Amino acid sequence: MRRGKTFIISGPSGVGKSTVLHALFADWNDLYFSVSATTRAPRVGEVDGKDYHFIAAEQFRAMIEKDAFLEYAEYVGNFYGTPKKYVDEAMEAGRDVILDIEIQGATQVCEKRPETVRIFIAPPSWEELERRLTARGTDTPEKVQKRLLRAKVEMETAGNYDYFVINDTVENAVSELRAIMCAEHCKPNERMNQIMNQQ
Ligand code: ADP
Ligand code: 5GP
Repeated sequence: MRRGKTFIISGPSGVGKSTVLHALFADWNDLYFSVSATTRAPRVGEVDGKDYHFIAAEQFRAMIEKDAFLEYAEYVGNFYGTPKKYVDEAMEAGRDVILDIEIQGATQVCEKRPETVRIFIAPPSWEELERRLTARGTDTPEKVQKRLLRAKVEMETAGNYDYFVINDTVENAVSELRAIMCAEHCKPNERMNQIMNQQ
């Protein structure tokens, strides 16, 4: 059986990563979404264990000490981390894995696992990013400003990514993501292995 691939999705807060990923997952059962642990408080509508594992700072520190994270990072005053165990189990079961993580975490994963595919999601314009972040209504104006400042740094590093998707409409972004994931499974090594393993 083929081993799954890991795809990192990064992009500025408010660009629409969660929205696009919900649409991608709606008709793709065989994908595994890595549920991160975070010390941030849940937003209205977020479900513990589905959107994030919402945990206290002490619990987060204990997980770091147990080496339970594939990566972790601090982002605008809170900690976020990817539990390693479930990612490995999903990949071994042949499922592709999606990590919705920011750029420091992406760098850590790629240092450990260089075969990981990195996809950056960008807004169609700066004004539209600010509009989406504000319209979401989940952050105070100060937090929106902090997230926008961070977004500038993130946009500058996007050139290191393997792919760049512009989320103008959710449909376009989803179809580009699908195309990228499909192309990544058409690389010669994987295809040759498939053929060789049939003999
Ligand atoms: P992120 O997960 O990147 O922080 P969200 O998925 O929470 O972003 O989206 C931020 C806001 O932008 C939400 O209110 C969402 O409905 C809206 N949004 C997402 N994608 C689009 C799009 N293509 N066009 C217009 N609004 C969008
Ligand atoms: P939010 O608070 O808007 O849900 O997420 C803030 C940022 O944290 C986003 O850029 C998101 O991709 C990132 N993030 C979510 N989970 C993780 C994680 O496990 N690790 C890292 N490094 N970043 C994460």
